[in-house]
Amino acid sequence: MASADSRAIELAAIERELGHTGYELRFAPRLEAAYQAARGPDRTRAITRYLLIYLAAKILFLFCNLRIGTHVFGVAIFLRLAIVLPLTLLSIYLLRRPLPAWVHGIAAFSPLVAETALVLLLGRLSGGVFTDRYVFAAAIGVFAQTLLMRAPFRHTVVGLAATLCVFCTIGLIPWHGHFGAAVPIEQLIFVVGLSLPALYERHARERAGRRDFLQSETNRLRLEDILRMNAHLERLSSIDGLTGIFNRRYLDAALQRLCSIALQKERWIGVLMIDIDHFKSLNDTAGHQHGDFCLEQVAQLLQQSVRAGVDTVARYGGEEFVAILPDANADDALTIAERVRRAVEDAGLAGAMGTVVTISTGAAAFRGGPGAQFTAVELIATADEALYQAKQSGRNRVVTARASLQGVSL
Ligand code: GH3
Ligand code: MG
Ligand code: MG
Repeated sequence: MASADSRAIELAAIERELGHTGYELRFAPRLEAAYQAARGPDRTRAITRYLLIYLAAKILFLFCNLRIGTHVFGVAIFLRLAIVLPLTLLSIYLLRRPLPAWVHGIAAFSPLVAETALVLLLGRLSGGVFTDRYVFAAAIGVFAQTLLMRAPFRHTVVGLAATLCVFCTIGLIPWHGHFGAAVPIEQLIFVVGLSLPALYERHARERAGRRDFLQSETNRLRLEDILRMNAHLERLSSIDGLTGIFNRRYLDAALQRLCSIALQKERWIGVLMIDIDHFKSLNDTAGHQHGDFCLEQVAQLLQQSVRAGVDTVARYGGEEFVAILPDANADDALTIAERVRRAVEDAGLAGAMGTVVTISTGAAAFRGGPGAQFTAVELIATADEALYQAKQSGRNRVVTARASLQGVSL
């Protein structure tokens, strides 16, 4: 996903393009590259389909050539098999390769130009009423390629110009009677007249396609912005403002989810209920500001002492924290809790009346299994009970809940 800044720049570029009339059919370079990358593959498929259908139609037309005469048929079949067919296959091959746009343009139109040349040649060879029919067929071909080929507009213009050049060369030049009479000039005007509305329509379609692209890019970037904002808000709503670790809201959801996993997959889950000792006295003697500082420091120490990427530490409320320990049995929970306790004690944070800040912890662990039933609330209540024991027996210690010591699945 792009950064917010680059999205804003892209959006501004799109706004600029949308403000243009767009008759030039070219965006600023970066946007143009994105447009070509997005629409290119579809367009190549469409051109390939057109060429194949066109080729199939031309093979069908061999029957028409046959009815006119064997000499015409011979030329038609020879030139189609020797030139138009291989040229079409070569074009399709080139179109599927990552080549410069101008090569693709030549590949797309050269079979059509060759076929127009062939039709006009056959027209001159046939003579009489057939010449008019062939010219008419060539004109329809030019009209169709201009209107229906989904090539870029610039390529369509060049393709049409090349086809008209061929029309003049093969159709209009007398050639000293070699191929029969030349096609009358009005036929050229007929072809041009037929092509212009097709060219106009092609331009309008490409313009509409480009505006669609700009619109969909705008939507995509705006959606990315919304998703990013949502993710940010989601994060904010899960984080405790003072300590920067997860808050109660996140904890409740995470514990519920991890409990279900433990039950379903028959795995252990451990919970530590952690409470700072004599915190009220610390606040009273050293001040709330120092109290807040200690909360932040203890939160960081907890986070650093649990298993990174596995355990989740959250502020439960006040000076109480909870750690969720997936796949931790009672022994694992005790080991982690002891590590946490020592880390806080060793940090030597100034506590009440010359003491250092310490914590008491109640640890509990449950295992999902056949018939096992426990809830997040029960897990917390059991760890809380053990915490109460820890406080009762002198603080700065870990007590593991009886149920989990016995490995009972509640
Ligand atoms: P114990 O060893 O039994 O846990 O005693 P305690 O003093 O830690 O427990 P008690 O529940 O009596 O006091 C908790 C204190 O935590 C009371 C409250 O003012 C303080 N506290 C709760 N939230 C905050 C906070 O965000 N910042 C500060 N500075 N103090 C807080
Ligand atoms: Mg407390
Ligand atoms: Mg306390």
